[in-house]
Amino acid sequence: MTLPDLLELFDTDDKCRELLERLRWPNGPECPRCKSDDVVRLETNVKLLWCPVCEYQFGVTVGSIFHDSHLPLSKWFIATLLLCEARKGFSANQMKRTLGVSYKTAWYLCHRIRAAMQDEKTMLDGTVEMDETYVGGKPRVGRPYREKDVVIGIRQRGGDVRFIHAKDVKSDTIYKIIADNVSEDVEVLITDEHPVYPGAMGSKKDRHKTIKHKDTYVVGDIHTNTVESAFSLLKRGIFGTWHRISAKHLPAYLNEMSFRFNRRKDHNIFLDTLRHMVTAPVLTFEKLTA
Ligand SMILES: [Zn+2]
Repeated sequence: MTLPDLLELFDTDDKCRELLERLRWPNGPECPRCKSDDVVRLETNVKLLWCPVCEYQFGVTVGSIFHDSHLPLSKWFIATLLLCEARKGFSANQMKRTLGVSYKTAWYLCHRIRAAMQDEKTMLDGTVEMDETYVGGKPRVGRPYREKDVVIGIRQRGGDVRFIHAKDVKSDTIYKIIADNVSEDVEVLITDEHPVYPGAMGSKKDRHKTIKHKDTYVVGDIHTNTVESAFSLLKRGIFGTWHRISAKHLPAYLNEMSFRFNRRKDHNIFLDTLRHMVTAPVLTFEKLTA
């Protein structure tokens, strides 16, 4: 989907709503309360459906990421496309200027789209590379010092990448991350020489290989270059686009980056994201700022 295509295909809220209805209810509309599919469209307002069983009136965006939004759906669609296509991320300030909305609206909008950009978690398999990096925490005059945040990157060669905000680089923490993300049947798991890894492998210890960064980056197939290239994009997003990310929101940004990275050759990323948005639960401003 290109921006000109989007502007031509979805120039009215009715057209946007029709697409959202197809994405949310591929088999026809269903009552969100009682799940009855015996619902009727209001003749006086085509945006609304009526469930005679539980006497509930609803629209396609109810109870979803779009819930209670006053922003026209056509603007939501543009914002979603911009986030899907921005390889290094898209800041709330950019969104404010591009859409002509307030900073608060842009910030909340970006966070809600981001919340829907989440991969279904499957276990990584085959040849898997793992590495750690540190983000944030740069001391600034007048700002409280913050410890750097640890981000663990895990990437299956020829497959998906995953970025995880780790609370520290202790053995128990890394063990759990490996156990939650890497298949028991993994062929080889490659890391650098960080002393935490050997003790965190558990049953995968016999398939662990390390690369000595001090000597050489590549010894045959034993390297972590593919996870590092994903990290470099992440860092350009964090340093170049978002500048400062609070520890609270870091996992959401990490999910956004990996979601987009894993779909970089997928032409359906826009529809995929919209489908997630119209089926994901409400994310209130209060919850985001709590
Ligand atoms: Zn109902």
